[in-house]
Amino acid sequence: MELLVATHNVHKKEEIQQILGNDFTVKSLTDHNIYEEIIEDGDSFNANALIKAKYCFEKTGIPSLGDDSGLVVEALDGRPGIFSARYAGDHDFAKNIEKVLSELKDEENRKAYFITVLCYYDENGAKYFEGRVYGNLLTENKGFKGFGYDPVFVPEGYDRTFAEMDPEDKNKISHRKKALDLFLSGLKVADQQ
Ligand code: IMP
Repeated sequence: MELLVATHNVHKKEEIQQILGNDFTVKSLTDHNIYEEIIEDGDSFNANALIKAKYCFEKTGIPSLGDDSGLVVEALDGRPGIFSARYAGDHDFAKNIEKVLSELKDEENRKAYFITVLCYYDENGAKYFEGRVYGNLLTENKGFKGFGYDPVFVPEGYDRTFAEMDPEDKNKISHRKKALDLFLSGLKVADQQ
């Protein structure tokens, strides 16, 4: 089955292909020559994931997957949340981390989670799948791997940040992996009905 993922990011496409396996042929926006900007102006992770998935399905008629992820910090009332990518500067990971850490200065509650919402859209409409990974934020960066807020996020049950883990280890427990696993089992259940 072909699945169109609302991204130009080759790594994201490959990660999804790897998790979903050979029953799926994962295609990206680039593969379909879609270069129009999709305006993600929803007010929730679900709304943004829906915007992307619906756009792709309406454009191509191919079952589509939209995703939206971010970091939710308890002591910051859920910020940066849907603004994670551009909290201080657009995809400026260092600045974004700096802003979160400065807002958390002197704060003892370091609890946070990463979340991914996937929206699958086909002729039957939208279905949502959500994955979360809980953890704590450090007061300074540790590690150089990964991206985004990885250098300050230590997942529960571990003593290393995501940026200190090998990508394969992070990808086994990540919010994206959990959401994709739910999507996969959701489709299998639908198949059997
Ligand atoms: P996207 O929706 O996957 O583009 O994620 C939006 C933003 O959330 C990214 O630009 C990062 O700042 C943050 N984010 C999402 N997933 C991760 C992750 O696995 N590690 C670190 N930051 C992440």
